[in-house]
Amino acid sequence: MPFADLSSDIRASAPDLRGRLLANQELSGLTWFRVGGPAQILFTPADEDDLAYLLSKLPEDLPVTVIGLGSNLIVRDGGIPGVVIRLGGKAFGEIALESGDRLRAGTAVPDVKVARAAADASLDGLAFYRGIPGSIGGALRMNAGAHGGETTDVLVSVRGVTRKGEIVTLSHAEMGFTYRNSAASTRDVIFTSALFQGRPGDQADIQAEMDRVTQAREAAQPIKERTGGSTFKNPDGGKAWKLIDAAGCRGLRVGGAQVSEMHCNFLINTGGATAADVEGLGEEVRRRVKENSGFDLQWEIKRLGVAG
Ligand SMILES: Cc1cc2nc3c(=O)[nH]c(=O)nc-3n(C[C@H](O)[C@H](O)[C@H](O)COP(=O)(O)OP(=O)(O)OC[C@H]3O[C@@H](n4cnc5c(N)ncnc54)[C@H](O)[C@@H]3O)c2cc1C
Repeated sequence: MPFADLSSDIRASAPDLRGRLLANQELSGLTWFRVGGPAQILFTPADEDDLAYLLSKLPEDLPVTVIGLGSNLIVRDGGIPGVVIRLGGKAFGEIALESGDRLRAGTAVPDVKVARAAADASLDGLAFYRGIPGSIGGALRMNAGAHGGETTDVLVSVRGVTRKGEIVTLSHAEMGFTYRNSAASTRDVIFTSALFQGRPGDQADIQAEMDRVTQAREAAQPIKERTGGSTFKNPDGGKAWKLIDAAGCRGLRVGGAQVSEMHCNFLINTGGATAADVEGLGEEVRRRVKENSGFDLQWEIKRLGVAG
């Protein structure tokens, strides 16, 4: 059942909008899991001012959701009501080197490109981004990290737009980073660019580190599958994958969704899974882990939208 088409109302209240506004746009193709329903409105802003303009004109009670490269998302089968914003590479895809061993990146830039640009400039400290398949926007929101590095270690400041359409700069402290989370998102800021601090390094060493990261991932993670990466956060005092394994969930299936045989904190869409299959499988894993070990696993993957 499609959502009501809000596009003419939005265009009427924001006549100078320059970005692309589409009603009832399927989102499944924009997520790694390849499941889920449409966005009521999908908006791709022309640039930061266009984004700020739209947000300043939208009714306050209309929900706004931002998505990145969809590598940490389950979009539910009923889709996402309100306006879904996806930043395009044209306006938000720049990378620039700055003085003091710093690098600025738009939030649509894939993490891997930041790792490569830093390596090309002999800047050390950002190689961990090599294997994370999201965008910088998602990395800021999730405090993404791997192989001993995480976003909080290298982030100086972030530019973004608030729900009311104000352009703001957030310091590292204001980002409120914790394990796989940033509290800044609770203030409804859409991040538009980030400034990173590197340190001078040896290009060959950085490249070797990136190669190590790539090999480690290919050996240990189902990176070619339709997945959302690590499903649950590691709880204090435990590793999610070990708890899931110990609860007998490796390979467990619900509909077309399966716990990966290769890495059991990864869920996989084996082909015809619905979002309800994937989320239902995750909840069943949580239930079994709780029963087996007492640990209450918390979702790392973001689940957005409404049931089908
Ligand atoms: C195979 C695989 C391996 C992975 N390995 C790792 C890993 O090693 N380490 C790790 O940390 N993660 C890993 N992930 C998870 C995922 O890649 C990261 O969480 C990534 O940072 C998500 O970025 P994204 O652009 O895909 O965000 P999305 O999945 O699109 O969104 C994630 C969250 O970020 C928010 N968001 C996105 N863009 C913005 C923005 N511009 N402003 C504000 N909020 C925004 C969204 O609203 C949502 O809440 C893996 C995923 C996969 C599929």
